[in-house]
Amino acid sequence: MKSEYAVTPATFEAQIKMLADSGYHSILPEQLYNYLVYNKTLPEKPVLITFDDSRAEHFNIAAPVLQKYGFRGIFFIMTITYNKKNYMTKGQIAELTKMGHVIGLHSWDHVMVTKYNEDDWVKELVNPKKELERIIGMPVEYWAYPNGVYNRKAAERLSHDFKLSFILTTPRDSLYPLQTVRRMIVPKISAKTLLISMHKVFRREK
Ligand SMILES: [Zn+2]
Repeated sequence: MKSEYAVTPATFEAQIKMLADSGYHSILPEQLYNYLVYNKTLPEKPVLITFDDSRAEHFNIAAPVLQKYGFRGIFFIMTITYNKKNYMTKGQIAELTKMGHVIGLHSWDHVMVTKYNEDDWVKELVNPKKELERIIGMPVEYWAYPNGVYNRKAAERLSHDFKLSFILTTPRDSLYPLQTVRRMIVPKISAKTLLISMHKVFRREK
């Protein structure tokens, strides 16, 4: 893992505790989708908590902290990591859904979508999606772009298979807003700094 993205368990819990203490409600991607498409209401101070890359710590450390504060999240799986050292097992991935979390796809091997040819789409999306759905026993409807990088061709392709796809803090695409939902990386920053960054990054665009 890139060290600038590594957060200690204590910092992570402080960040989550801050969200809980500040009155945030974790939402699931389905709620965000229903809000964006059908204008359904969201709870006060909604926050979507996401994890990428299938690390074992997500199951061992993050999920119990979320549970403790009554939060749920979405875990985007890079499927090449199944049962590898330091990564979640298939059983743990299935367990997350039983705990009320959502599982999304983050490609097979983390190659960026801008590099895929037709065969790569099968390898990176079609096959991993099917296998992941077998593991969790439900549809996989959300995608996180490797490195947050997309182009319109890929967004169009993904729109056939996923309700929402997630980028990073770059602007949303006006033609494919549902396939370019913004997220911010939360590095090792204090809970207070996190709150300030969230306000800056997610200031209303319209
Ligand atoms: Zn990733």
